[in-house]
Amino acid sequence: SRARLQQLAQVPSVTPDGETLELAANISSVKELDAALGSGAQGVGLFRTEFLYMDRSRFPTEEEQYEVYRMAAEKLQGKPLIIRTLDIGGDKQLDYHELPEEENPFLGFRAIRFSLSRKDLFKVQLRAILRASAYGNVQIMYPLIASVEEVREANGVLAEAMGELEAEGVPFRKDVPTGIMIEVPAAVAVAELLAEEVAFFSIGTNDLVQFTLAVDRMNEQISYLYEPYHPAVLRMLRAVVQAAKRRGIQVNVCGELAGDVRAMPIWLGLGIHELSLSAQAILPVKETMLRTYARESRALMEEIFKLRTAKEIRDRLERFHAEAT
Ligand code: PEP
Ligand code: MG
Repeated sequence: SRARLQQLAQVPSVTPDGETLELAANISSVKELDAALGSGAQGVGLFRTEFLYMDRSRFPTEEEQYEVYRMAAEKLQGKPLIIRTLDIGGDKQLDYHELPEEENPFLGFRAIRFSLSRKDLFKVQLRAILRASAYGNVQIMYPLIASVEEVREANGVLAEAMGELEAEGVPFRKDVPTGIMIEVPAAVAVAELLAEEVAFFSIGTNDLVQFTLAVDRMNEQISYLYEPYHPAVLRMLRAVVQAAKRRGIQVNVCGELAGDVRAMPIWLGLGIHELSLSAQAILPVKETMLRTYARESRALMEEIFKLRTAKEIRDRLERFHAEAT
């Protein structure tokens, strides 16, 4: 029941055999923070900033963005706040800024590609985030990264923004951690190279499933092919974690799959650092974690990687979940 679940909000998120998996929240506005904190969120693993850009008739100013990021940082009182830079394009449009009509918008002019083509706008956002970093544990995350060049170019703009603020005497966190979303198969393939450039990865399963399986996440006609438990997807997840471990950086997961309780042994078995979830998913996922053994999860994953179909994998995960209940 809801009341029984609510009691779990303040319980530490630790497995019965003592391993931790942080549970953070996905938010699109500061308003959503209260519900997330009420559910015991240990931070924000994904602040989708595009709504700040969509809810108005022009690009938000540095000051407008700074106010929002700072308020979120302060409300979190030292808990991590991962702010994702603008992920516009794809299915998300701006009324006041014409983006080109595209045959394949999800493969098109969006996210970091837009930001790197409009460095003036990108720098405004980075300055706002940096200024807010003086008020909490702020971290920066770039979306849709496909190459080392993109990370370096983005970090170049970040360095410029830092240089400006420094010259203006404006305080900010000089060692602000920067990470990337892993949601493009190319990023999985070069994860070891990318891990040299950033402080953390966050796997965006919504896009990663779409691109791995070549299945448009918005196309209902082929939604039956949108299968997060496809053996290919699980191998992508494993490859990312292995690359990150070799380089000693943390991996989070922030796509919808993180909110599916059946997936818990995948995260524990692979050794994910943090799940970032919609506020409603935090407590059900925590309840599952509190009775899922990490040791058993690792053994289960050995079995899972021998299975050949998504259905076999789903059935095996469901049986495991039922047995742990
Ligand atoms: C994802 O792709 O999994 C993700 C978290 O980003 P978005 O859903 O905003 O594309
Ligand atoms: Mg995405």
